[in-house]
Amino acid sequence: MAKISINIGTGEVQKDSNVIIGIDLGTTNSLVAYIKDGEATAVRDKDGAHALVPSILHFEPSGGILVGNDAKEKLATEPERTIYSVKRLLGKNYGDVSDKQQYFSYKIIDDDQEALVKVKIDDKFYSPIQLSAEILKALKHRIEVELEAKVSKAVITVPAYFNDAQRQATRDAGKIAGLEVLRIINEPTAAALAYGIGRDPETEETIAVYDLGGGTFDISILQIQNGIFEVLATNGDTFLGGDDFDQAIIKYWVEKNPAITANQSDNFQSRLRISAEEAKKHLSSNDDFKTSLDQIDLTIDKNTFETIAADLVNRTIDSCKKALTDSGLDKTAISRVVTVGGSTRIPFVKKSVGDFFGKKVYDELNPDEVVALGASIQADILAGNQKDILLLDITPLSLGIETVGGLMDAIIPRNSKVPTRVAREYTTSVDGQKNLKVSVFQGERDLVKDNRKLGEFILKDIPPMPAGIPKIEISFLLDADGILVVRAKELRSNTVQEIEIRSQYGLSEEEMAKMLIDSLQNAEADMKIRGLLEARNEANNIILSSDKFLKQHDAILSDEEKTQTTKLLEDLKKAAREEDKDAINLAMEQLNEYTAPIAHRAMDITIAEAMKGEKL
Ligand code: AMP
Repeated sequence: MAKISINIGTGEVQKDSNVIIGIDLGTTNSLVAYIKDGEATAVRDKDGAHALVPSILHFEPSGGILVGNDAKEKLATEPERTIYSVKRLLGKNYGDVSDKQQYFSYKIIDDDQEALVKVKIDDKFYSPIQLSAEILKALKHRIEVELEAKVSKAVITVPAYFNDAQRQATRDAGKIAGLEVLRIINEPTAAALAYGIGRDPETEETIAVYDLGGGTFDISILQIQNGIFEVLATNGDTFLGGDDFDQAIIKYWVEKNPAITANQSDNFQSRLRISAEEAKKHLSSNDDFKTSLDQIDLTIDKNTFETIAADLVNRTIDSCKKALTDSGLDKTAISRVVTVGGSTRIPFVKKSVGDFFGKKVYDELNPDEVVALGASIQADILAGNQKDILLLDITPLSLGIETVGGLMDAIIPRNSKVPTRVAREYTTSVDGQKNLKVSVFQGERDLVKDNRKLGEFILKDIPPMPAGIPKIEISFLLDADGILVVRAKELRSNTVQEIEIRSQYGLSEEEMAKMLIDSLQNAEADMKIRGLLEARNEANNIILSSDKFLKQHDAILSDEEKTQTTKLLEDLKKAAREEDKDAINLAMEQLNEYTAPIAHRAMDITIAEAMKGEKL
């Protein structure tokens, strides 16, 4: 592809680096790496001290955004404006996380169980994609300072268990940060690559990657064949990590000296947590730890720590057993074990994992950096700098369909390996809808009108059902010659329709390059329009169902409830006609807060009536 030197922010021609960066976008920490003088290297802060950037954002009342350590400092003082663990929300809808609000000090919100979650700060709503983009921007900035040049291409890692929506959300975050995401790769694959595992296309092996971080634990079983990494099984615990070891130490100190719990002075409890983490880290290379806080002696030795940590470690080993069972393999089939995550520095953890698999663990690389290092190696392979590795065929532009509001839904993202088949389920938006138009587009922009139309067809004779009930599977099958077969099938009635398209036909490399640059230059603006259209679609659904609700339950609503619901509904209708996404979200939230208890009551009454009917 032609090299074009354009600043994607301003459009100015200027110095560009052709380095492709590797990014580990983590739950607690993130970092960026690249190949420097032939070596995978993590980029450190300007003092050269830290490669890790805490994945934390702080929204200042003035409108500024702090990222990383500066934001972390605000966690204790301004928790409701400080966002952490945003990765746990990526690609999730409210139904997925509604029971987890207690883990978050900031407000997570949605009005519709099916819509993607948003985070509320003051009267503004942010999507996890936008928030992740801010972290990516900070990492991009960090490496641009180091290289004294702009970077625009990246490989980003995600957990092996991330689904399609979570991977797409990660890609979108990259795009908003001004990064063309060449590939999304699995974190365990990156860790293996960092150790050079899988580079030789001749070898076939199965490895285990054990990743114990600050707050999450993952075990992955990977099969490597012909340079392709296949995830055979994953297991883990999204709420188990180094923090739990700190808590175990605190519990031990409290048992020895119950007075500690009562001490509420001067941030004592948070200083206690810091001391516990310090003790844990100290015991990774020493036998005894001793400190004192407000004249209270706090001591612990290595043996005691291992005794109190045994339960936690056993839980991770149980997950390893489950992953092996799911992969249908015995542990003797595992040839190597790679450890990832800061908590694998604990010698007892390392030993337990090694003993369980009966193998030496690969732990020479910094466990905090290994995923980012592997991502930078994958990036270098994509840049064509590592000639000994075969690149599989990939699709140059995303392929997708038009959804409500003229939005592009990318079904096969750009840079996917071909051949590939991806299927996704859709439904109707109108009661009794009989036909569904499937329009197929190619390109990276959020609105289909800015992309290239490849063809369309109509799925006819859908049996009449209420909106949202039909299950329509749209599948894209792309073969190695770039021929795309798009098929729509209504799963309840088995109605099928399909077309065949030559996806790359008629596009030169220059035209493709232009489409990519357009998408990066317009990413922020596209995101805003997408946000507005999505909020409007959601609002329209809520308006329809609220109108229905008011009619159906007229008898059980008090006059005041009717007036107030109608007023809030009118506010929402008005907001939906205007251009402010936050105003729409706010109106939805207000309507939802007011009507939720009424809806519960209506539901109770309906159930009671139904029960009465049963008895007759
Ligand atoms: P990560 O999410 O991979 O950055 O992991 C961070 C976790 O690793 C935190 O819980 C740290 O307390 C823990 N950690 C870092 N260094 C050490 C060490 N030397 N010994 C034990 N745990 C450590």
